[in-house]
Amino acid sequence: MGYAVAEAAIEAGARVILISGPTTLATPDKARRVNISSAEQMLQAVKETTDQTDIFIGVAAVADYRPTSQAHNKIKKDAETLTLELVRNPDILASVASSSEAPFTVGFAAETNDVVKNAQQKLIDKGIDLIAANQVGHVSTGFDAEHNALTLIDTAGITELGQQTKTRLARELIQQIAKRFHAKNTTKDSRQTYR
Ligand code: C5P
Repeated sequence: MGYAVAEAAIEAGARVILISGPTTLATPDKARRVNISSAEQMLQAVKETTDQTDIFIGVAAVADYRPTSQAHNKIKKDAETLTLELVRNPDILASVASSSEAPFTVGFAAETNDVVKNAQQKLIDKGIDLIAANQVGHVSTGFDAEHNALTLIDTAGITELGQQTKTRLARELIQQIAKRFHAKNTTKDSRQTYR
């Protein structure tokens, strides 16, 4: 979905920085791709580019935890059980949203149940402008499927984007983001005028 969103944003005229983990997907023409392979590297790459961005869209399925330490040599199978200690990864989206001069921030929420309620909570907890939620666990939509459907939630309410190909859905999403981004920036501009 992230690659479809990047493609749609380029089509709409945006300059896109695509910070991506390993994938076989082709980089969309005109995107500047930054390759990373861990959540910490992604956070670093995001920090280095946020001040150049008006809109940040967090589409990556970032792991919530990472191993506390990495073995430098092969781990021998001497023991019958092996316990891995995990530590929380930073929340990249929340960190962007809480930065000074934060761009317009958009997150994704993949939910198996209570989609709207859980996504609304994420919108608040992460302090973001818009969240795109979808139900996962259905074979026809979500991860590794050609089609998807999204429920967009912000403080103004709920907008449904019905089931369609990820390419078409990404175009609709970019339109919706652009509308809200302009509305927010118009408000900011008019505040500055009357100050
Ligand atoms: O909390 P949850 O993982 O469900 O939130 C999903 C959203 O948060 C996605 O937009 C994902 O890219 C972002 N995220 C993040 N950093 C994390 C975990 C999730 O930016 N460590």
